[in-house]
Amino acid sequence: MQKYFIVTYGCQMNVHESEKLAGMLVNIGYSEAKCAEEADVVLFNTCCIRDTAEKRAYGNIGALKSLKKQKPDLVIAVVGCMTQQKGGAAALSAKFPFVDIILGTHNIDELPVILQEKRAKKRVISINDDPSPAINDEIPIHRTSGTNAWINIMYGCNNFCTYCIVPYVRGRERSRKMEEILADVKQVLSEGYKEITLLGQNVDSYGSDLKDGTSFALLLKEISLIEGKFRVRFMTSHPKDFSKDVVDVIARSSNICHNIHLPIQSGSNDVLKKMNRKYTAEQYLEIVRYIKEKMPDVGITSDIMIGFPGETEKDFEETCEIVKQVRFSNAFTFVYSPRNGTPAAKMEQISPDVKKSRITRLVKLQNSITKELSKEYLGKEFEILVEDVNPKYEGTVCGRTDSGRLVTVKGDQSLIGSFQRVLITESKSASLFGNLIQTKEEK
Ligand code: SF4
Repeated sequence: MQKYFIVTYGCQMNVHESEKLAGMLVNIGYSEAKCAEEADVVLFNTCCIRDTAEKRAYGNIGALKSLKKQKPDLVIAVVGCMTQQKGGAAALSAKFPFVDIILGTHNIDELPVILQEKRAKKRVISINDDPSPAINDEIPIHRTSGTNAWINIMYGCNNFCTYCIVPYVRGRERSRKMEEILADVKQVLSEGYKEITLLGQNVDSYGSDLKDGTSFALLLKEISLIEGKFRVRFMTSHPKDFSKDVVDVIARSSNICHNIHLPIQSGSNDVLKKMNRKYTAEQYLEIVRYIKEKMPDVGITSDIMIGFPGETEKDFEETCEIVKQVRFSNAFTFVYSPRNGTPAAKMEQISPDVKKSRITRLVKLQNSITKELSKEYLGKEFEILVEDVNPKYEGTVCGRTDSGRLVTVKGDQSLIGSFQRVLITESKSASLFGNLIQTKEEK
């Protein structure tokens, strides 16, 4: 049997896309290899949202040159965002002449035919530049994410934040039909998944392109009406589109998690304007106020960018101020890196030293808030969905609270996939530890 090995870079959306790549390969008789050396096909599912992911991909692809020399029949394919950038496929092709297949983000469904027809013996480069290609709902999925099933609800983005490459490489917003999504939700529940994460670049604008009254609030409401015990999470939200209707649906539902990832990016209105984010710090705080009023137990997480072109010390302090006011349960903090082809890449950049100093201060601030919030969990009971063993501590498993906090408890593999009540007994920064307080639930 032929074997595949997939290397994935970037976000959860790419992780799920790799499940689709795997699904197509399993469908034509491949099985998964443990490493590139054992594989007949190696796929690099790339990401160009940040410089680090791009550099890692370049390094890893280059490292396969010698393996290809030893195994000339090995097929090497590069897919994902890096191939779809302007000039990206040509650059990859020139730098890595031993790569056999280069597919754009809208072309991955061509992979099985290319492999089956052995067209890969000749180099194949296929890039569809249409920003609004039709959605292919027929791609099989080989799920690899344990208790959680990812489900795309839409593709692409219309927002053109000035730092972001996504709209250029993933096209415009295209929503899947609600009935297709509901059918997928029912399907994964029938397969035993206990948690579903709805995926889209901007889930809050789900349905606006369908022009039939469909909205994200309506989708969540329909999903919440499906019978059974399960959890729903979603990502990513955009503060300009995050509506009170969505908050109301989540607050009323028993299975949509009180865990909202709402990227703020900056607390400075000047920076937000240059980023083309289309909301102000005050508007962001108003959404947060409403969320907390309706769901006092909510866990709000965020993405915060440091070092956007022109960011002053005052801008940075405004970001720290909003971090203190919102008290995110956790935040993904990162340093801006210019992306070719985006407007911000042409703006005046700030020095790496300033960026380094600011990110260090921000991380320290956020860590102290996360630590304080963790202490508030002590002595309280929560329900967790056990996701996996915790390899850091022998004889333990871990799972998340509804608000998204990771809790480690004593237990074994048999608990994975079950909901458990836990009493929190210890907190270490972002990590919580507890004791099971209920017998194991039937899975
Ligand atoms: S909303 Fe902005 S940051 Fe998010 S994917 Fe779209 S353009 Fe990129």
